[in-house]
Amino acid sequence: MCSAGGGDFNLDIEQLKVERYKCNDCGNKFDSLGEKVVCPSCWSENVIKD
Ligand SMILES: [Zn+2]
Repeated sequence: MCSAGGGDFNLDIEQLKVERYKCNDCGNKFDSLGEKVVCPSCWSENVIKD
């Protein structure tokens, strides 16, 4: 059980997968990520991937 890892610093960047979305309510196009995406303009959840 060797848990002391020295020197091997691995930057674990969470898969920042920015995707392009479009709001169906106001037509705003924006970049977002995550599972629950809301429009930054009108806060609608009625968005689709552009
Ligand atoms: Zn909107």
